[in-house]
Amino acid sequence: MKAVRFHAHGGPEVLVHEEAPDPVVRPGGVVVRVKACAMNHLDLWQRRGLDRVKIPLPHISGADVAGEIVEIGPDVRGIDVGARVMLQPGLSCGQCARCLAGEDNYCPRYDVLGYQSDGGYAELVAVPAVNVIPIPAQIGFVEAAAFPLAFLTAWQMLFSRARLRAGETVLVLAAGSGVGQAAIQIAKAFHARVLATAGGPEKLARAVALGAEHAIDHYAEDLVARVKQLTDGRGVDVVVEHVGKATWEKSVRCLARGGRVVTCGATTGYDTTLDLRHLFARQLSLLGSYMGAKSELLQAAQLFFRGVFTPAVDRTFPMSETAQAHLRMADYQQFGKIVLVP
Ligand SMILES: [Zn+2]
Repeated sequence: MKAVRFHAHGGPEVLVHEEAPDPVVRPGGVVVRVKACAMNHLDLWQRRGLDRVKIPLPHISGADVAGEIVEIGPDVRGIDVGARVMLQPGLSCGQCARCLAGEDNYCPRYDVLGYQSDGGYAELVAVPAVNVIPIPAQIGFVEAAAFPLAFLTAWQMLFSRARLRAGETVLVLAAGSGVGQAAIQIAKAFHARVLATAGGPEKLARAVALGAEHAIDHYAEDLVARVKQLTDGRGVDVVVEHVGKATWEKSVRCLARGGRVVTCGATTGYDTTLDLRHLFARQLSLLGSYMGAKSELLQAAQLFFRGVFTPAVDRTFPMSETAQAHLRMADYQQFGKIVLVP
């Protein structure tokens, strides 16, 4: 098959579109012909290399896949060759207490497709059959690939972690990011009031179109002052964070009493400061979040299939142009998901 691999860590130039061995179907597994694979920031970290994580080389990234089943393990039931599917991006052992409790993303062996395993920057990908989610005929492959990781992540952040309630106010940072566009749609659908940040008039307009009541220009406006103004000095109940160092202190200052910051990433840096006086005197909660349980993805998918959620797709690139797609993501040019097609 053709695949996009890197043999060493580095810039976008290490991504090579080349021949690679076809994946082999494993017991309990399937092989999927990839029709679309959405990119995530994790892909950039994998390519650049991480301090404490060893990535197997050569490596095929790609966690967000939609395609057709082409091969089924001999012991797999309930799925047919030719089925149109998207893939749950979390891999777990399926046997430990956390997996059996439906908390698969707390499994000690939890992994994301395309992280320690080969992912979807390829014509074919092998996954466990339990990762397969059939998609209805009206859902296209590109939008299906754009859905799983972003909506799964945002869903767990807002519900299991931040315990969002109807009528609360949510501030979503970076509306044009995968998690940002998903969080706006989910919070809006569950009757929260949504404020969002974005850079430039075009992205601000798109944030409002997705359901934000107000969009704040994070380059041109004072975020904390604007949030206080829009909430009559009260602040917001929940901040959806993934920006990290550049915004963390502002995110904490935007919170109302009893507010929660929930974070799933640190794209601008991970070392920051915290004024503990804010934390205790205003009874704040700081929450970490990583992916989500498969059951949550299945819940969110019902709303996707019914048209309540529409993943924002920035643009598609042929896989032969994956390096350009990485550059676009690294420069924060996109609004919504960048999707690769073989
Ligand atoms: Zn497990």
